Amino acid sequence: MAWKTIGQSSSIDRISRAVSLDRLSHAYLICGMDGIGKVTFARDIAKVANCLEMPSSSGPCGSCNQCIRIDSNNHTDVFIYDVKKDLDGVGRTSTMVTIDQLREDFLKQVHRKPYEGRTRIFIIASIESMRSEQSNILLKTLEEPPDDIVIILLARDASNLLSTIVSRCQVFNLEPVDELEILEYLNECGLGADVPIREIARLSRGRPEWAYQAAINPEILHMWEDKLNQFMGCLTDSLEQRFKLSRDLSTQFFRDRDEVYEFLDTAMTWTRDVLLSGSGRKGEIVNISQKEQVHEFSRMLSTTDILNILRLIRITFDHLKKNVTPSLVLDNLMLNLPVATSIN
Ligand SMILES: [Zn+2]
Repeated sequence: MAWKTIGQSSSIDRISRAVSLDRLSHAYLICGMDGIGKVTFARDIAKVANCLEMPSSSGPCGSCNQCIRIDSNNHTDVFIYDVKKDLDGVGRTSTMVTIDQLREDFLKQVHRKPYEGRTRIFIIASIESMRSEQSNILLKTLEEPPDDIVIILLARDASNLLSTIVSRCQVFNLEPVDELEILEYLNECGLGADVPIREIARLSRGRPEWAYQAAINPEILHMWEDKLNQFMGCLTDSLEQRFKLSRDLSTQFFRDRDEVYEFLDTAMTWTRDVLLSGSGRKGEIVNISQKEQVHEFSRMLSTTDILNILRLIRITFDHLKKNVTPSLVLDNLMLNLPVATSIN
């Protein structure tokens, strides 16, 4: 058994069944949060479609020439394109392409016969960043797929995609992975003893790839700490400071809205920790290394304040997703956040 996908047992069962019936589809759409393991799952499909040993539905062998070459990204029939950016390292081995390059390369490659394997695999990430006219590049191929190919599209969720694309694919929705399963996975990765894997597993919110990246790249945890400090700071800051943060965040929103969502997520998780800490459930908090500060804030904020913060963050999320002007939404958050005052 050599599935590299962490968790996702029902999706793996579905692929296993298709393989045992020799009925892999020509097109799959894999949906899920960044860092949840979409590329890993797509690569697992590439392996079952090409593995030389495939004895049963128990997964690719992981040790034949085909599996090894796919795992090391050297297989000449497996293409990974990403039209957006390297998302938390999820697409770290993909070829970053512009839409024009994708059109040219994909359309050229898709009609060639497999060179070294049984099936040519085209994995295309960040499909949601394509505009509808650009998606037409794919549509025609999805309508009449050549033999011996499998196209695997990756997206956060299917709701923003053209229904004509979604309807031509078998859809997999990857689910957040259990914290213990992520912990076990990190344990098996042979990381240094100083890596805080328990905290990373909690912070990952069910995303094993994110967890792995955070474990091997200290910069990711530094960025998370920066966000925490910004948020804790603004709870005690003057209005002037808060509005400065609001301006910074709205500027950032136009550059990379995911960064702002990540800030809000971090704030939300931390605020929940404050609530847990205040009600004597310190063992459950996510931001383990911050537990002293979390506890301090649980003494500075009333339960009503904490619930209010959670509500405000949810509203902020909601409004940003609905395209309300970011500066208005963020100013409103800053204006209404309660002020943490020293020990009451
Ligand atoms: Zn194999």
